[in-house]
Amino acid sequence: MAPQYDAVVVGAGFGGMGAGIELDRLGLSNYVILERENDLGGTWHVNHYPGLAVDIASVTYSYSFEPNPYWSRLFAPGKELKKYAEHVADKYGLRRRMRFGAVVDGARWDEENQHWVVSLASGETVTGRYLLTATGFLSQPYTPPFPGIESFAGKIIHTTAWEDDFDLTGRRAAIIGTGATAVQLVPEVAKKAAALTVFQRTPIWVVPKVDAPIPAPVQKLFARVPATQKAARLVNTSMLEALMVVGVLHFKQAKAMNKGAGLLAKAHLRAQVRDKRTREQLTPHYDFGCKRPTFSNHYFKTFNQPHVRLETSSIDHVEADGIITADGHKTEIDTLILATGFNLWDVNFPAVEIIGRDGANLGKFWRDNRFQAYEGITVPKFPNFLSLNSPYSYSGLSYFTTIEAQMKHMGRLFGELFRRGETTFEVTEAANARFLDTVTDKLGASVFYGGDCATARSYYFNQHGEAALLRPNSTVSTHRQAVSFPLDDYVYGVPA
Ligand SMILES: Cc1cc2nc3c(=O)[nH]c(=O)nc-3n(C[C@H](O)[C@H](O)[C@H](O)COP(=O)(O)OP(=O)(O)OC[C@H]3O[C@@H](n4cnc5c(N)ncnc54)[C@H](O)[C@@H]3O)c2cc1C
Repeated sequence: MAPQYDAVVVGAGFGGMGAGIELDRLGLSNYVILERENDLGGTWHVNHYPGLAVDIASVTYSYSFEPNPYWSRLFAPGKELKKYAEHVADKYGLRRRMRFGAVVDGARWDEENQHWVVSLASGETVTGRYLLTATGFLSQPYTPPFPGIESFAGKIIHTTAWEDDFDLTGRRAAIIGTGATAVQLVPEVAKKAAALTVFQRTPIWVVPKVDAPIPAPVQKLFARVPATQKAARLVNTSMLEALMVVGVLHFKQAKAMNKGAGLLAKAHLRAQVRDKRTREQLTPHYDFGCKRPTFSNHYFKTFNQPHVRLETSSIDHVEADGIITADGHKTEIDTLILATGFNLWDVNFPAVEIIGRDGANLGKFWRDNRFQAYEGITVPKFPNFLSLNSPYSYSGLSYFTTIEAQMKHMGRLFGELFRRGETTFEVTEAANARFLDTVTDKLGASVFYGGDCATARSYYFNQHGEAALLRPNSTVSTHRQAVSFPLDDYVYGVPA
């Protein structure tokens, strides 16, 4: 029985869109992109809290083959990213392939028909020769089970479900969480709220953000002479690369660089916060890089304002009109903002149930063994399946480097498949084991294992304490590997 589609893609964020563009390039044009939301853009559709912006300069945080000369700032606001996603979808004809409100529950490899059967929450099934999941890492919102939260009588709002017309003016607000989202949100809430208490469990390293509007003449130059924007991208990407490769991945060999970044963040804090105790409370006690570094010129300063308070005692419970901390203190509030982030490892690996050959269950395989995926994209026993948000897939700091490396991997893999006149591929156990050994070995030199990350509570680490998210090499070698991996790392065609 022939499948309905050449390929089924799950997720209409930048990852799923990149996969769609590559499928078209490969001539696999009969594909569908299933998306549970009512519009495209993934992260940049779901998140629209005040202050949302990229933390990687926009020349780099975009597809290299689709530069946008008209970013308004060096670090574009979230709204522009959403518009950019819409532009890409229109230009590359992706929108007509997208089905919104399509919540995928799971997918099963149909051995007899050699295709995937994808089930939707609606009860419908969709079949495709190939399955590509692009369900994101930061896409399953998390709310810790604070006792009593259901009794809170005021307004509760999670940063992923921001209500744009909700007016914070005069509110007595609490923000729980001090991750990258809170760093952007806290200064904005402080502008309007009558009182703001920020509940911090883990302080975050924050370095200055070298941000500014991009003047119209520069935008025109980028549009007329694309090489100038390419050059800007190269400079910015190289700086990020140095930070990541030298400061984080080669921590053991280059501790000074890592310590230098930490000292810069400490100097930033000292320059911005007057009160010594608050400064101490905002100082992390884990090494720089254990958690994704954050950039802001406004976050620390906010704590100088008389109506803003930092609370570091842990939350005991929530009552109708306030939060009680472990020291018995009650903070009276009428608005509770949850900047509590996302659940990665429990629900995102994988985000839906994936059953491969011989009944292999991907989630069970990852949990019973170690989290693993060859080149961060394929897994033995899961034929014709590309898991785009996999263990060890995230390379570098800008996620676009990962997306484009995976597009290249698709190009090489499908190119060989077509050359052989086959329709089925599967990565070998040996290649997968070799890749896992290599990354494990390399990670030994990183800050994750060589540094002190004990108190970081970083999403880079899974439930077993393994730093299984980031790929421990330069983005240059990730891209090189994507176009040169040994072709016989895959088996093509149905095994005899
Ligand atoms: C607030 C915020 C700021 C960020 N800033 C940066 C940054 O500056 N730089 C950077 O590199 N990265 C940043 N990131 C990370 C960002 O998620 C990635 O850069 C990138 O957008 C991921 O794209 P994606 O397509 O892989 O995933 P996503 O954008 O998360 O898209 C995944 C899509 O899959 C859909 N989906 C999930 N499960 C299902 C299902 N079961 N059925 C159907 N659809 C499903 C989701 O609804 C979503 O639309 C940020 C993340 C957040 C949350």
